[in-house]
Amino acid sequence: MHKTYDTIIIGAGIAGATAAYTLTQQNQKVLVLDKNGIASGGSGAAGAFVSPKIGKGSALQTLTNEAFSFAKAFYLSTCPEYFHQTGVIRIPKDEADAGKFTEYEKFNDTKYENYTKEKLHSLGIEVDFDSFYFPDAGDCDAPHVCEYLLKDIEVMILDIVELIQEENIWSIVGRGDLSPTIKAKNIILATGFESNLADLRYMGIRGTWGTRGDFSSKLALNVSMHQSMSVGANIDGIIKLGATHEKEVKDVVPCSDAQALSLKEKASGLINTSDLELVETYCGMRAGSKDYFPLVGKVIDVPYMLETYPAIVRGAKPALEYIDNLYIFNGLGGRGFVFAPLMAKLLAEYMLEGTEIDKRVNPDRLFLKWCRKL
Ligand SMILES: Cc1cc2nc3c(=O)[nH]c(=O)nc-3n(C[C@H](O)[C@H](O)[C@H](O)COP(=O)(O)OP(=O)(O)OC[C@H]3O[C@@H](n4cnc5c(N)ncnc54)[C@H](O)[C@@H]3O)c2cc1C
Repeated sequence: MHKTYDTIIIGAGIAGATAAYTLTQQNQKVLVLDKNGIASGGSGAAGAFVSPKIGKGSALQTLTNEAFSFAKAFYLSTCPEYFHQTGVIRIPKDEADAGKFTEYEKFNDTKYENYTKEKLHSLGIEVDFDSFYFPDAGDCDAPHVCEYLLKDIEVMILDIVELIQEENIWSIVGRGDLSPTIKAKNIILATGFESNLADLRYMGIRGTWGTRGDFSSKLALNVSMHQSMSVGANIDGIIKLGATHEKEVKDVVPCSDAQALSLKEKASGLINTSDLELVETYCGMRAGSKDYFPLVGKVIDVPYMLETYPAIVRGAKPALEYIDNLYIFNGLGGRGFVFAPLMAKLLAEYMLEGTEIDKRVNPDRLFLKWCRKL
């Protein structure tokens, strides 16, 4: 018997989970498929800080901080038990960075306080740079948030290898007998750094490898902080240390405790790490776009466009053709837990009400430029 859904979402990370939650709130019949289970990709490894972006008022900072305000309210109203609003301190990396903080200050568009080095020392933070404290920020318990959002939604473990569209209905081809019986009107690709189910080359999706170590500790640390790595507040005897920087890693590799322990070494420049004992190491890939903005919207039919309009590579600008009812939700970079709730709302409004997708996140922005480089 065929089972038909309004929407199948491929990927059960924070993108897939927020999209599924938001669409289900609108009475959509949704199925989520993931080859390894809920939060098994980058989302499970995330320190999952939800904090604003600092800087000189770039477009990305503005968008990030819109998303931050939305995300904070979303987690507090949806799953407050998994969002720890500990506040986050942003600490300059070095003397040069500390100089820039003065310029950044006028662009701090979310509630903040200046923390002097004396104040930091009183909190057990051993740095000598004045910093910004964002009291509304915090961090999520990443897998629990994804599980919570999906708790009333059908989720299946299936590795999808192909998508077939016939008469406006999608069939899913996975490894296993069940798959051809699953059908839907819409598909959302929320597959993180793996992006081989359609031609998405123009979006420039790429992975950055990261590691998180959860350490047991009795240290009285009530606030989270970010310098060039993240240090979570002590929640129930666990301090999370995390960072994602390794761009050259192309494939998922086994987690290494050595990486988590090197984070502990690095954290010793911030806090007293003497009683930290490694409990578990998590690692994963976060997926970013070419221009670091999220990718939310329809997918262009790349083979059709290149074949039908060969002059596109020399600068022609024909009207774009899309693959019907195929959507992308990706490119959340190092801020998946910040961006996902607002991006899920934009995507749901676009799919269900036809509201124009915000140009800043619409992947169309990247297509013609990519064609000209072919
Ligand atoms: C160490 C680390 C620390 C981080 N810290 C933070 C932080 O502090 N704050 C923050 O906001 N973000 C943070 N991030 C970034 C955040 O984790 C990502 O932005 C987020 O995970 C993106 O979510 P996603 O749902 O797009 O992708 P993912 O979580 O990677 O989910 C993609 C899912 O798709 C599935 N999939 C892929 N292909 C298929 C297929 N063919 N068939 C079926 N399933 C498939 C995968 O199994 C996976 O579960 C961090 C990331 C890492 C790695």
